[in-house]
This record gives sequence, C-alpha cells and structure tokens, in this order.
Amino acid sequence: MSIQTINPTTNLALKTFEEMTEEAVDAAVAQALTAFGDWKRTTYEQRARLLHKVADLMREKKEALATTITLEMGKLISQAEAEIVLSADIFDYYADNGAVFLADKNLSPEHGKAFIRHSPVGVLLGVEPWNFPYYQVARFAAPNIMIGNTVLVKHASIVPQCAITIEELFKEAGAAPGIYTNLLISGSRASVLVRDKRIKGVSLTGSEEAGASVASEAGKNLKKSVLELGGSDAFIILEDADIEKTVEWAVVGRMNNNGQCCVASKRFIAVEAVADEFLERFKNRLSNIVVGDPMDKTTELGPLSSEGAAVQLADQVKRAVDAGAKVLIGGKRVDRPGAFMQPTILTDIKPGNPAYLEELFGPVASFYRVKNEQAAIDLANDSPFGLGGSVFTQDIERGQRVADQIDTGMVFINHPTWTQADLPFGGTKRSGYGRELSELGIDEFVNKKLIRTS
Ligand code: NDP
Repeated sequence: MSIQTINPTTNLALKTFEEMTEEAVDAAVAQALTAFGDWKRTTYEQRARLLHKVADLMREKKEALATTITLEMGKLISQAEAEIVLSADIFDYYADNGAVFLADKNLSPEHGKAFIRHSPVGVLLGVEPWNFPYYQVARFAAPNIMIGNTVLVKHASIVPQCAITIEELFKEAGAAPGIYTNLLISGSRASVLVRDKRIKGVSLTGSEEAGASVASEAGKNLKKSVLELGGSDAFIILEDADIEKTVEWAVVGRMNNNGQCCVASKRFIAVEAVADEFLERFKNRLSNIVVGDPMDKTTELGPLSSEGAAVQLADQVKRAVDAGAKVLIGGKRVDRPGAFMQPTILTDIKPGNPAYLEELFGPVASFYRVKNEQAAIDLANDSPFGLGGSVFTQDIERGQRVADQIDTGMVFINHPTWTQADLPFGGTKRSGYGRELSELGIDEFVNKKLIRTS
C-alpha cells in the first residue's frame, strides 16, 4: 500500500512517500533501544521538560498543523485546531502528573517492608489511525515517554505529513534521536515488526482486523498489547430527556469528525414516548447540515477520510437497505468530487441487518424505537462492541442506574462519550482492551516492580 497524501475533499493526490527499507527500520529500532538505555536514567523533571516543550510547540504551530490534518484526512479545520490543543493538553497532563502517578507505592505486607517501584519496560510500538492524527499519538507517546520508555510510531498511511511533522516536533523540542521515531511502513509490516525481540509491547488503535493481527503477533511472542478498536455506541433517549438539548448532542455525537470517531454516537435508541419527537427534530437538524469544504469555517460536514472509506460506507448503507432497513434521509454519496457521504438516518433495522452489527464509520445514524428503558438497555448491549455510550434523562440517578447496566468501557450521562486527558478511555468486548489517558493510561507499559526491604 502506498504512503500518500490524497486530499479527500478533491480526491487529488498531493504527495507520495517512499516506504522505509528493512535496513532503515532495523536501524530505527536499534536507535530506539540505544535511546532507551539513556532515557530510562533521566529524571521525571527532564522527561516533563521534553513533553512540555512538545506541547508548547504544538500550540505555537496550531494553525499550520491543523491545516495539514484537514488536507490529509478532511476534518473540519476548527475541529483540527481543537485536536491540536487537546493533544498539547495531553502532553502537559502527563508532564505535570507523571511523577505523582509513578511515585513509589508503599505496601503494608503481613511480614517485612515492601514497596512498588514503577520502571519502564523498553521500546514500544504504537500503530495509530488517521481519524485523530495528533490526539491518537499523544495518548500513546506522552505517558510512555514520561515512564521512560521510547516509542516507535507506525502511523496510518493516509496521513504521512502529520506523522513526519510529529517526529519533527520532538526533534525541535530537543528529544535525542530514538526517543520518538516515526516509521513510514505499511500496516502488514507493522505486524511483522511486533516479533522483533527489541520491541517490548504494542498499542494499536484502529480496526478489528488490524488489532487481531497485531495482538496475535504479540501473543505468539509473549508481549503485552493494548487495543482500542471500533465501537457502535448507543445513545439512549429516555422519556424524561430534555429533547431539545438531546437533539443537539445527538448531532454532535454523530457528526463530530465527519462521523469518524470510535466513540461516535452511532445507534440512537429512543423509548416510545419520545421517539417521534426526537426523530423529527433530529431529521430536521441533519437535513440542514452544511456539507462542503472542511477548510471553510461555515461547513458542518466535510468528506470522509478517503475515497475508499466513502465507498465502504455507501456499500454498508446499500447492504442495510437490501436487508430491509429504510433510509429516512440521505443514503447516498454527495454529488460533488471528493469522498463525501450525505448525512443519513436509517430506520427499521432488525437484528441480523448489517447495520445492526457493523460499525458505521461516517455520518450515518441508526435509529431504533423501543418500548421502555429495559428494552433500550437490552438493545444497547446487543452489540459485538463495548466502547462507549450515553443516556439522556433529567434524572441523574436513573441515568447512573442505566449506565451501570450498559456493557461498555465508558458511559456518559446527558453527553455523547467524549475524551479529555484526565479521563480513562477504552472498551470491552470487540472494542479492545486496556486503557489510555488518565492515571490508568500510564499503567499499561510499566513494570510494577516489588522491592522488599526486610
Ligand atoms: P486500520 O485498522 O486499517 O488502520 C489503523 C492503523 O492500523 C493504520 O496505521 C494501519 O496502517 C494499521 N494497520 C492496518 N492493517 C494492519 C495490520 N495487518 N497490522 C498492523 N497494522 C495494521 O483502519 P482503516 O483505516 O482501514 O479503517 C477501517 C475501520 O477501522 C474503520 O471503518 C473503523 O471501523 C475502524 N477504525 C477505528 C478507529 C478508532 O478510532 N478506533 C480509527 C480508524 C479506523 P495503514 O494505514 O498503513 O494500513
């Protein structure tokens, strides 16, 4: 697969990059290992200084970095800028809190004295997706570099300029060679690389197929993996929800990032009493969404990340309709150049329909009408995925009771599932395992070493 910038707004190829040779990758891994030898001996203060510097540079160059994101994967420019700020916040967060998270932890054993020391494990491989080219890297690189690990990043092939720029930011921030290394290689080569004895663990965000490939290599080679895969989050609307606000959040939850978030609200499940009102208002809002150039600040929905992604989504909609689903609005590609898909609502989706089980990674909402709260919970849980979800109700205790019964890694009340540096992120079931961000995110690739003193 070629590594190329193709602007999805026009589908025109802008720049092609040569993949790294086997020799170059081997040298990069060797350099990351050498760097680890020194980096693990640095203090938390030194590591924090590097992370803060990276954060500062991101904020300084926000406009330029955001423009490249939009050029390569089509995100609305305002959201690309917000992503840069969020990523800088993540670097600052681990710089500010890492030393506390990683401090020795005293134990109170029955005999003797003991404590836990947090030690780095070595060189790690991160396989990252295109949907948030900076944020996804930040949540892998920041905690691990703070621990004292060194990282190799294989970024998605459609965002090579973002990938290269992140490495340049580290260089400019003063990182020694090998602390952060970008690998311009294909996905299949990343899986093979997991076998390399010098690499001690792998973290992947992306599809189930890529996750299974990396995790099976990690398993065969007895290495730890963290997987953040797809999701099909339920957005439950109970009869006491504030419908006006709920509809606004439904639009954000589904359309943010042109519909391409793992934690996007994808299945809208409304109880009978409010189903008609919600659907009518949701339909009106989505029908009037401004579709267009993501560089234009008035645009509300841009293209998908690539022509391939748009073809795949249109095909999923077609298969859903062939299997009995109805298209309330949209359902087709937008009649203009670029990887655009109309804002779409599907209804009448029955168990077994492709839209019932598959993740729809774009501006396509699945709507379900159910009898009551219990039916909403049952439907929410009838999914292979278990990433996030949300419940809309004015009764917060009721919302918490419902949240408790939803089988996912995250549930938000009166808000779509969201992310910030100090909240853990991750899923259950086929959405993967492990956690990123917050204190939990610094806990994945660390040796919690027991030291017993007497
Ligand atoms: P992929 O899983 O193919 O891409 C994610 C990353 O994995 C990329 O760096 C990719 O590299 C790499 N990769 C691909 N195949 C392998 C492999 N066999 N071994 C190791 N690494 C691999 O996602 P797609 O871009 O194809 O998107 C497909 C679907 O994945 C989406 O429709 C969505 O359902 C899900 N997805 C979920 C994301 C999330 O945030 N959880 C993000 C992106 C996608 P390369 O680009 O070179 O192929």
